[in-house]
Amino acid sequence: QAAVSSIATDALFDVREDISGMEGQSLSDSYGRYVFGDEVQQKRLPANVYMALRETIDSGKTLSADIADEIANAMKEWAVEHGATHYTHWFQPMTGLTAEKHDSFLRPTEGGTAILKFSGRQLSQGEPDASSFPSGGLRATFEARGYTAWDPSSPAFLRKSASGATLCIPSVFCSWTGAALDKKTPLLRSCQAISKAAVRMLQSVGENAVTRVAPTTGIEQEYFLVDKQFYHLRPDLMATGRTLFGCAPYKGQEFDDHYFGSISVRVLDFMRDLEKELWLLGVPVMTRHNEVAPSQFELAPQFSGVSVSVDQNMLTMSVLGDVASRHGLVAMMHEKPYQGFNGSGKHMNWSIGDNLGNNLLEPGKTPHENLKFMLVLTAIIRAVDLHQDLLRVSIASAGNDHRLGANEAPPAIISIFVGDQLSEVIDAMIEGRSPDSPDQESLRLGVDALPQLPKDISDRNRTSPFAFTGNKFEFRAVSSNQSVAYPAAFLNTIVAESMDHITNEIEARGGSSATTIQEVVRETLAKHRRILFDGDNYSEEWVEEAARRELLNRRTTPEALAAMDSEKNAALFEAYHVLTRDEFESRRNVASEIYVSRIRVEARATVDMAATIILPAAIAAQRQLAETTQAVRQIDASLPVDAQVQALRLTCELTGQLQARVADLRAAMEKVEGLEEGHEPIEHAQAMLKHVVPAMVQVRDVADRLEKEVDDDLWPLPKYRELMFIR
Ligand code: ADP
Ligand code: MG
Repeated sequence: QAAVSSIATDALFDVREDISGMEGQSLSDSYGRYVFGDEVQQKRLPANVYMALRETIDSGKTLSADIADEIANAMKEWAVEHGATHYTHWFQPMTGLTAEKHDSFLRPTEGGTAILKFSGRQLSQGEPDASSFPSGGLRATFEARGYTAWDPSSPAFLRKSASGATLCIPSVFCSWTGAALDKKTPLLRSCQAISKAAVRMLQSVGENAVTRVAPTTGIEQEYFLVDKQFYHLRPDLMATGRTLFGCAPYKGQEFDDHYFGSISVRVLDFMRDLEKELWLLGVPVMTRHNEVAPSQFELAPQFSGVSVSVDQNMLTMSVLGDVASRHGLVAMMHEKPYQGFNGSGKHMNWSIGDNLGNNLLEPGKTPHENLKFMLVLTAIIRAVDLHQDLLRVSIASAGNDHRLGANEAPPAIISIFVGDQLSEVIDAMIEGRSPDSPDQESLRLGVDALPQLPKDISDRNRTSPFAFTGNKFEFRAVSSNQSVAYPAAFLNTIVAESMDHITNEIEARGGSSATTIQEVVRETLAKHRRILFDGDNYSEEWVEEAARRELLNRRTTPEALAAMDSEKNAALFEAYHVLTRDEFESRRNVASEIYVSRIRVEARATVDMAATIILPAAIAAQRQLAETTQAVRQIDASLPVDAQVQALRLTCELTGQLQARVADLRAAMEKVEGLEEGHEPIEHAQAMLKHVVPAMVQVRDVADRLEKEVDDDLWPLPKYRELMFIR
């Protein structure tokens, strides 16, 4: 293991040279140095080329071949100056990870020499032989392979290490028939959908200068750190990202002493390195702190346009891993590495902004701004209520099932928090009265009978899955290791549909007079009021109340996947050109397959570790106890050996139970695997949940009891008390 660590450390050492100079003024000069961003583009491209590129970024206009050639050449020169030898289209297949296949800039010439070359065509399109990525049935492996296409909405960047650098070109990934095989394409399409719907809605109320609207996101990322030495001794962490065995340590999170606590020197060193590397990559990380569980942390960047933000989050997760490795640590993004402790999530802060620079979720200061805000808010409330199932499935995964509803993260019930003041405004509106607000700071809407709006919504509720926090929504049920591309794409799409619905209603009633708008807003809010909940989402009462309100409570991934089996949802995504029916179905299949694979790997690891690591330790403990008992008796038969015999009996019993439960788990796996033929992937996922998941819990229960009995010297796995407290 020492060898493993030192190899990784050497290979990654180099970025440190750039980082070590980052102090004082050079800090701001270094920011974004690894990014072919706007400033570099402007400096290195001829004016007409730069303008053409900007237009492509802003409006999606296609670039001509010679302009693409000029951009490619400038990118190559810049990258080579930074030590790059290769480029890659960097894309996000349905695995949920990023993918890359590197090609060299080097072109051999006839005379046995070589030149460096990068053409517009190479920049624009790649043909990786990427037939092994999941396609959910969209594309048989024997068919034409997929291709990658440059996505200029997110800037190219460099990944550096001691031996050189690679130019990474953010890309989408499609089949030759044009079907989206990735997570990024539906996201980009959903941005167009919400822009179109929002512009239409705003123009219908007289906002004619609004021609484009774009979602913005700021993604807070939680993670755990563990010492690399311990990590390598835990096959479960290595294979599945979570501990499949392990008892609670003496001291857990009961003192709340880790949350916002002072950051240890070793971790702070790591964080400084991490932030500097992210700054070089133009990722605006602003915040760092300790989270609730021991050895759990969080970072948060400044928000940006959703395409850039999603890419930067994927990059952040990758850099987290690299930098942790340099520090002898492993960064874990699994949703629930440790049973009994808070797991990790991602908070997706989301809003929409228009081309005039307005945040559409800013309540605003004038009656007209208030009105716009109320319309947007109403559209979102309606969207979330109507499409709870889609938001739920957008964050569903085997790992997140451990977190949602476990008193640490929002429940699987989707609801919206808007806070007291806004709730009162909404209720007053529904009831057609003036809001009951003594608050002098409140703003008058000015329009007759439209209620007052609070200027600042500062109260917070950390338990809500979807909370309004003043000028944005915070989707808190997102899981730590997932790409936010789906949650963002799904949210954009359902809000687009809702905005269209509202515009249709306004138009059907003869236009945008204040009374008409007010009427539509009031009716829509009345219909969807049930989705608003400001109370404690962790409480049992809420589960009951939500059931009375007939809100969905899909606790597990296989249940949540029903949303992908729905005709209404397939039609919605088709209508908004976000996913075709085939693409929609493929997402359902891939999600089911990933669920099945994750549970399968966990089950295999559980069986193997129980049989080959834990059982032998228990048997060794028996031998030790038996030999000791016998030896004591031999010396003097009258010596008391009750304690040894009792310990031996318990260990023998538990060992027997462990063996039996492992056999049960094996049988459950065989039963479910036998299903594969002729069954839909979703049925396979349901069977895994029903048979294999509970059988794994059974094995763990008895193994964890053994951990409490067996001599610590004989216990082969690092325990929670060792894993969770980084020194
Ligand atoms: P908190 O969650 O403690 O309220 P902040 O309000 O500072 O923290 O914001 C959290 C995240 O929300 C940050 O990433 C921030 O950039 C992001 N954010 C702020 N405004 C917007 C917006 N209009 N759209 C999307 N994200 C935003
Ligand atoms: Mg937050």
